[in-house]
Amino acid sequence: MSDLNHSKKTQLMQTQNRGDEQLKAQFNRLLSNAHENQHKLKRFEEIEFKLMAAESIEQLLLIIRDEYATLFKLDACALLLEDESLSLRRLIPESMRGSDKQGAGRQSFLTLLNFPVELEKLNYLPSQITTGVYLISRHQWLIDNPEIKSIAVMPLVRRGKKIGVFCCGSYDRERFQVHAACDFLQRLSFIMAVCIENALNLELLKLSTITDPLTQVHNRRFFDQRLPEELARSDRSLKAISCLFLDIDHFKSVNDTYGHGVGDDVLCQVAQRIQSVLRTHDVLARYGGEEFAVLLPETGNSEAMLVAQRIVNAVNKNRIVVEKNVILTITISAGVSTLMTEELIDDTLNNLETLGMKLLSTADQALYDAKEQGRNRAINAGLLALVDSIGCSQKFQY
Ligand code: GH3
Ligand code: MG
Ligand code: MG
Repeated sequence: MSDLNHSKKTQLMQTQNRGDEQLKAQFNRLLSNAHENQHKLKRFEEIEFKLMAAESIEQLLLIIRDEYATLFKLDACALLLEDESLSLRRLIPESMRGSDKQGAGRQSFLTLLNFPVELEKLNYLPSQITTGVYLISRHQWLIDNPEIKSIAVMPLVRRGKKIGVFCCGSYDRERFQVHAACDFLQRLSFIMAVCIENALNLELLKLSTITDPLTQVHNRRFFDQRLPEELARSDRSLKAISCLFLDIDHFKSVNDTYGHGVGDDVLCQVAQRIQSVLRTHDVLARYGGEEFAVLLPETGNSEAMLVAQRIVNAVNKNRIVVEKNVILTITISAGVSTLMTEELIDDTLNNLETLGMKLLSTADQALYDAKEQGRNRAINAGLLALVDSIGCSQKFQY
């Protein structure tokens, strides 16, 4: 009897021990999961704070592209943003758009969507995060990399509208499993959407302060800021810099004959024609009513004269068609001035603003000569000659 009791007791204890072991293992598993989650949360918080602290859209995109991918050991990530109105192209630096880096590197990290078929695909994405196996047929338009085995697709939603989608890819099939817990990703995608929208709004605001609302080229404020900066850059690179001052001929008579609406239209079309002959790093601004100024960095005097002549030709070559079938022949006059930076001396460098204004007023003087000589032409003021430490002389070499 006592033997029986003893064996029962031992059995009971063994069962209890097994139960304890299981409980202990379960507790350890939970503890390790909690630690892992805590660690994950810390990493998410770290990236979220960085996103919120970004001071420009470029900085924000670089954090998403480089820091996020590294922190979470992603093999690829891609951001696609809705750009139906093509406005993001103006707000996001070209260096970000043309980037060839996407984790393992296939397509650009950033894609701006504006084709109707792309916008429709974005629209049809589920609003919730989806995770699972990477399927070329379904995911190639998001991340074009067949080595990816699993993917997380995170729609970026603001006020019920999808502004884009962020995708993370991994070579590990198990990394983003179907029905994986997505709480952290859900929060991150929300913060990412808010930060992207805020950063874009800020860029838009910055742009509006330096853009002429009628012609959409830069305004005088921007030009006046850039002038000393470009002079300093020219001095560092020892390259010449040239300036053009342009004024539409007899523009008042356009207004007087056809009204201000037609005049505005002509201004816009002339601005486009000027822009079309310039390089991307040239600076065009509407300086006043029907006056434009152009800065040509790294451009000598004869080259600048060629650009001015090209502008004169671009404006007068084809007649300008405006509303109500009004077809006009418009001409423009130009003045050209150039500064050779080897002529810059230390003292004038301290006074770049004065020097810049001198470069501009010299071009303006040449423009006056162009008007005097019959308009529809470019006149060269030549090189600005420096004489003293305060600024430069009024005499120019022709
Ligand atoms: P010139 O060949 O000597 O330059 O003659 P002009 O008629 O072009 O020069 P003027 O300075 O006499 O006239 C400039 C005109 O430009 C007068 C002004 O009403 C017009 N203007 C200035 N800003 C705007 C604008 O934003 N829209 C329109 N439609 N007209 C403008
Ligand atoms: Mg004028
Ligand atoms: Mg004029």
